[in-house]
Amino acid sequence: MERVIKTIGVLTSGGDAPGMNAAIRAVTRTARYHDINVVGIMRGYQGLIEKEFVKFTSSSVSNTIQRGGTILKTARCGEFMTAEGRKKAYDNMVEAAIDALVVIGGNGSLTGAQLFAKEYDLPIIGLPGTIDNDLYGTDFTIGYDSALNTIVQCVDKIRDTANSHDRIFFIEVMGRDAGFLAQNSAIASGAEAAIIPEGDTDVDQLAAFIERGKRKSKNSAIVLVSEAQKNGVGGAMYYAERIRNEYPQFDARVTILGHLQRGGTPSAYDRILASRMGYAAIEALMEGQRNVMIGIKNDEIVYVPISRAVKNNKPIDAELISVLNVLSM
Ligand code: ATP
Repeated sequence: MERVIKTIGVLTSGGDAPGMNAAIRAVTRTARYHDINVVGIMRGYQGLIEKEFVKFTSSSVSNTIQRGGTILKTARCGEFMTAEGRKKAYDNMVEAAIDALVVIGGNGSLTGAQLFAKEYDLPIIGLPGTIDNDLYGTDFTIGYDSALNTIVQCVDKIRDTANSHDRIFFIEVMGRDAGFLAQNSAIASGAEAAIIPEGDTDVDQLAAFIERGKRKSKNSAIVLVSEAQKNGVGGAMYYAERIRNEYPQFDARVTILGHLQRGGTPSAYDRILASRMGYAAIEALMEGQRNVMIGIKNDEIVYVPISRAVKNNKPIDAELISVLNVLSM
């Protein structure tokens, strides 16, 4: 028999992403609309283990849709990786009469959610909240569009100085395992190249870029580089150092955008995406869905088994690579 859900808990976990507040707001307001109680769990899984629970009403989420970060705070929680930690978390949920969880986070957070749901037969709905856009089964994740826009604004500024001094700038952006931010910000900012983890490992992406550059008459260049490292090598510093050693005729500079990519007000797209996904999370629970991530495919909300969302690598469309290569001529 299906459990009746009277109270849900909502938490944000892992790296923060613009739009998380819009998602918390949508989850809270949709649940309250259906007379479901809402418990805000502070600091992700850490708060679940330490019973940092706050009763949420509709007004708890007033004036938050436009704010970056997450009002629930977020954390990386080592204890939740252990069976003892998850047992504590479960016992606290039982004590607080929380019947179901909505977890807003990235790959790691949803991997933890999947394990937790399996161990304790809990209804959990995941929302893809990460700037990396690396979750399988959804075209976009909450925060990706805002981060992309932030990066493009920064690259536009760096372009001015790169042009003035005839320099090659390696701009490092986030994406430990995924190159969506680097590839698409390169296209959007008119950069000359992107070095991404999905790039063919047999190809030296730096050499390929220099080779292409020889055929062009440009004397400054912008290269977007994912922070990803393979076998200990990678990142903007690594490529700039190689330029200094292997191609000393070029003046190479590095900018690491770092945490400014996470901050700032969410874009309109992220606010709408987060609102639709938060609404869908409660609808899914009420329909009896269990352990699915809410995704968006061709502008329609879809339910993706969390196990599929976290285990499969989301490929970069090869067309995006061609678009950048051709348009950077
Ligand atoms: P982002 O990629 O945007 O930073 P994320 O959700 O992938 O977000 P992680 O640091 O990988 O961030 O994971 C967040 C938290 O999820 C971890 O600190 C841990 O508490 C939990 N978690 C991650 N992997 C597991 C796992 N295999 N088992 C249990 N819990 C996990």
